[in-house]
Amino acid sequence: MSEEIVYTYKNKVYLNITNKCPCACTFCIRSKKDAIGSADSLWLNHNPSFEEVKQALEGFNLENCEEIIFCGYGEPTNSFDVLIKTAKYIREKLKIKTRVNTNGLGNLVNERNIVKELCENVDAVSISLNCSNKEDYLKTVRPKFGIKSYDAMLDFAKECKEYTDNVMLSVVDVIGNEEVEKCRKIADSINIPLRVRKYDNSQ
Ligand code: SF4
Repeated sequence: MSEEIVYTYKNKVYLNITNKCPCACTFCIRSKKDAIGSADSLWLNHNPSFEEVKQALEGFNLENCEEIIFCGYGEPTNSFDVLIKTAKYIREKLKIKTRVNTNGLGNLVNERNIVKELCENVDAVSISLNCSNKEDYLKTVRPKFGIKSYDAMLDFAKECKEYTDNVMLSVVDVIGNEEVEKCRKIADSINIPLRVRKYDNSQ
C-alpha cells in the first residue's frame, strides 16, 4: 500500500501534506478507514517537504483541474511552511486556485498569528465550525488546547474575513438540523457562509 500526497475525491484534487492534527474529532474519517477517493493510503510515513509535494504534483495529471484543496489525513496548518510554499508554487507555476480545509486552530498550533499569510497565499479558506457551543465542541472535536479552542477557531474565522471574502464555515450533517440551524446563526452573525457537509463526504 503506497502513501499518497495527492489524490482525487469526487472529481476534486486534494493535497495530504501532514498527518499531524491537534484534534481527535469523534467523526474523523481517519479512525474509520485508511484512505478515501483515489488514494491507497493517506497515512504518511513522514511529513513531506515542499520538494516532495512539488514532485508529487508534477507526477499528477492536473489537466482540467480548477482547484487544489489542502486537506488529507491531518490539519494542513500543522505543516504551515510547506503549505505556504506549495500554495505559492501552485498559484505561480500551475495557475490553479487553492483552498485550505482547516480546523481553524492554526494560530494555536504555530504559536503565532498565521491568518494574514495564509489568506494572502490561498484562494479560499474553509473552517470547521462543527458545533454551536464550546462545551459540545470540546466533547466532539477534542482539541488538545482545551476549552479556549472554540473561541480561537471563531477568532481565526473572523480574522480571515478581514483578508479574504472567500472564507466559509462548515459543519457535518450528523449534528442534526437543530444544531445546524444554531451554527447557521453563528455563521450569519459574523457574516460568513455556512457549508453543511454530508457525513460520508470527508471534505
Ligand atoms: S480536525 Fe480534521 S483531521 Fe483532525 S481529527 Fe478532526 S476531522 Fe480529523
